[in-house]
Amino acid sequence: MASMTAELQVPPLLSGGQVIACPVCGQGDNLTLVIVPGDFSEDPSDLFCDDMHRWSEPRVPRRIGAGVYEIREREAPETIDWSGAS
Ligand SMILES: [Zn+2]
Repeated sequence: MASMTAELQVPPLLSGGQVIACPVCGQGDNLTLVIVPGDFSEDPSDLFCDDMHRWSEPRVPRRIGAGVYEIREREAPETIDWSGAS
């Protein structure tokens, strides 16, 4: 059974002082983070850019997305895109 996911556009993500960017085209702003609500594990999150290059990013553990999701759900639920929910 697939777990439900949400997609959220995020501001530039920093890791060790470096912006996390698409490994294909280098886009580092307005990346879309795939969130698995309630998954607070250290597993890598999936990210994709405007050109739909999708990759698994170990510097962004899923717990970050799950935490962001809880805040957004409370304060700005309209910013969560459920169209890609599976
Ligand atoms: Zn890209």
